[in-house]
Amino acid sequence: MVNDLHDTLMNFKKRYGAGRAIAAPQIGVMKRLIYMYIDEPKVFINPILNHRSKEMMVVWDDCMCFPDLLVKVERHKTCRICYRDLDWCDHEMNLEGDLSELLQHEYDHLEGILAVSRAIDRHSFALRSQKKFIDRAYSR
Ligand SMILES: [Zn+2]
Repeated sequence: MVNDLHDTLMNFKKRYGAGRAIAAPQIGVMKRLIYMYIDEPKVFINPILNHRSKEMMVVWDDCMCFPDLLVKVERHKTCRICYRDLDWCDHEMNLEGDLSELLQHEYDHLEGILAVSRAIDRHSFALRSQKKFIDRAYSR
């Protein structure tokens, strides 16, 4: 299954130039497993997200399930993930910024939640082709 997740992620990356992680339900496997590849592979088995900060951040989220769509959502600035690796050893990681956002997104997949259902309001949808415009609006 991890190999399948790896191949799917790499194919997506080749095609769209983006993609850092994937959750098992995205390839039809109903297991609580997240596969992440940033510099090196990382497997999160039966992850639990906790210590979610009260402080939130607004981000434009994307998803392999809808590659051309961006959705503005709120995510916790920091959180902690507890998980097992492939050798069934317990680990925990404190997350902030990009990683916090990414793993909240993937964790949502395990709960059957897509970023589109976390959209802040009806103006929170944009096509990737509009991204330049969004970035400009955001830097103001
Ligand atoms: Zn996704």
